[in-house]
Amino acid sequence: MKPAIAFGFFLLSLAPEVLAGDGKWTPQQVLAQGPEWVKAQGFELPLQRLWDATAGDGLLANAVKLPGCSGSFVSAEGLLITNHHCVAGILQEHSTPQANLTRDGYLARTRADEKRAGAYRIQVPRGFRDVTAEVLGAVPAGADDLARFAAVEAKQKALVAECEQRAGTRCQFAEFDGGLFFTLTEYEDVPDVRLVYAPPLGVGNYGGEVDNWSWPRHTGDFALLRAYAADGAPYRPRHFFPLSKDGVREGDAVAVLGYPGRTYRAWVADEMAEREARWFPSIRDLTGEWIALLKEAGALAPEVAIAVADDLRSLENTHKNAQGQIAGLARGRIVERQRAEEERVRTLAAKRADGADALAALEGLRALNAARLATWERDFLLDMIARGPRALRWPTSLARRAHEAVKPDAEREPGYMERDVRQLRDQLARDQKRYAASADRRLLVSWVRRALALPAGQRIAAVDAAFGGATTDAALQAALDALYSRSQVFDLAVRTAMFDETPEAQRARRDPLLDLGLALDAERRELKARRDRAAGATLRLRPAWRRAVIAEAGRPVAPDANGSLRVTFGRVRGYSPREAVVYTPHTTLLGAVAKHTGEDPFELPERVREAFAAGRLGRWADPRLGHVPVAFLADCDTTGGNSGSPTIDGRGRLVGVNFDRVWENVANDFGYNPEIARNVNADARYLLWLLEEVEAARDLVAELLPD
Ligand code: ASP
Repeated sequence: MKPAIAFGFFLLSLAPEVLAGDGKWTPQQVLAQGPEWVKAQGFELPLQRLWDATAGDGLLANAVKLPGCSGSFVSAEGLLITNHHCVAGILQEHSTPQANLTRDGYLARTRADEKRAGAYRIQVPRGFRDVTAEVLGAVPAGADDLARFAAVEAKQKALVAECEQRAGTRCQFAEFDGGLFFTLTEYEDVPDVRLVYAPPLGVGNYGGEVDNWSWPRHTGDFALLRAYAADGAPYRPRHFFPLSKDGVREGDAVAVLGYPGRTYRAWVADEMAEREARWFPSIRDLTGEWIALLKEAGALAPEVAIAVADDLRSLENTHKNAQGQIAGLARGRIVERQRAEEERVRTLAAKRADGADALAALEGLRALNAARLATWERDFLLDMIARGPRALRWPTSLARRAHEAVKPDAEREPGYMERDVRQLRDQLARDQKRYAASADRRLLVSWVRRALALPAGQRIAAVDAAFGGATTDAALQAALDALYSRSQVFDLAVRTAMFDETPEAQRARRDPLLDLGLALDAERRELKARRDRAAGATLRLRPAWRRAVIAEAGRPVAPDANGSLRVTFGRVRGYSPREAVVYTPHTTLLGAVAKHTGEDPFELPERVREAFAAGRLGRWADPRLGHVPVAFLADCDTTGGNSGSPTIDGRGRLVGVNFDRVWENVANDFGYNPEIARNVNADARYLLWLLEEVEAARDLVAELLPD
């Protein structure tokens, strides 16, 4: 792909009131804001080195896309840094009760010891292209909402297919703020990634859920992977960030690069209110219940605890996040403020000759939101299958796969096309290690009970048909026994065969769980069709409204996160979480040891405590801090998906790895507040200290610090 960078957006010159950390900027926006702006962020690097539109390359290309996370190369020999929690799946895959890598971590002393990371793949960006004109040009005049959605989706598939003609390439289509603009990113797909180092849980997840989403933090949330090229030699990246031995001080400039997943700042107040009043409370309650059930099953058998470890950690993360979102939305009066801002823009638009579109768009977005509320509980439960029991996830995805596979490729749903098959198949196999019957059945009972309790008008027909008669717990358990005893979906070989069958062949099996999956999938497809139409309406409405909002903002506005590459510039800074309390921005090993109780999650490994007790700080004590630095805060604008993102200093050296946000800032997904917007980074010097003084991993240190 010829990288053609669009300069068409947000060409307004930068007003001084633009907040330092505010904004997850696209590479295009960074370029558009110009070299002076980048310099004002504290970056000595010429803009040209960050991204050179002519060469289609630059340091920004060293933000590597990992599954659900971000990462970056840190050596010429393909060494990658990311978070410990981003490799939890790899650790779990290699763990047994005898060799528990999740608990004990892993260090490959030689290249031959590196652990192959199954289906884990990474993507290295190769070029970006603005495709707005092509996408909008594909929508026929007079198209209704469903036709508009279908035209954009068809164009998306065509662009991706064309871009992926080149071997070893993955391409990502991204829609910004509901269709304000669209981009296509080309990535090199690297399928061979191996685990080099993950610290023990007592370092990588020190503080666990107690400390998650908060400060002060003493977690060494990092891991090292190595990418390999097709010929089996280490992957040679075009760029890597050298690790800094110097670290950062309060006030220093930093930038975080990566793939933030999803934020909601462009949403209207009614949509935000739905998140505050319905979505997050429901997520909190459901995940809370499922966490308790998985823990209960895990406590009864160590192999179950291992199987559910990764699911559990992810549910716990979501659970606490939901609580933080609810608290932050209330504390920041975010919905109320958004409504006030909306009214301001509305009044201004009403005075303009060309304001009618924006006003109609706002009303349209409100109406779409209201329509969604009518079947909210039912739809929520259907969505939660994706995070629920494998007894539902597997059959519903087998059913969808069969439904899509009989269509010509270009007509299939994204996610079920030929380009996705390998990943779907891998997932099916990998998931087997996460399945534990006793835990899974508990989740299934919970989900079915919730479905049976839905109000009239929101019933899930497939559930009523399978369990409607089960009015007592004993009857429900008996119905489940019958389902389980006659189903083969838990057998990997059979499941793999089902994956390649037509819907008719699947039905002919008369497998009761697969039948339930087929019926549930039909209801989920009906839900999807409703949503597709609404998405077509949003494509029409949101851009019209956003244009008015951006015009009134009088400054560049970064679009919501959507999984595409972004950069955020900030400074190392503490903050005040509440009156009379001030947090400083650095933590050290002193604080980590002070927190050690010997009980999970404050259980520092013995060898770490020994090195500490012996005063073996090597060259890693920071004279200003008095000890080995562990974590630091900055006011970069991050969200989920930025995990593992490189945090670089003004000279382009890696000083840390982003891994979290502070409690007060969890609701930044709805708005940036400079008082409390803090991201949490693991200090690269903690990693270097661990490798050098605790693990004696000299080769790795030499590779990370070549000079
Ligand atoms: N912990 C997050 C992640 O996993 C990062 C964040 O949400 O700030 O991506």
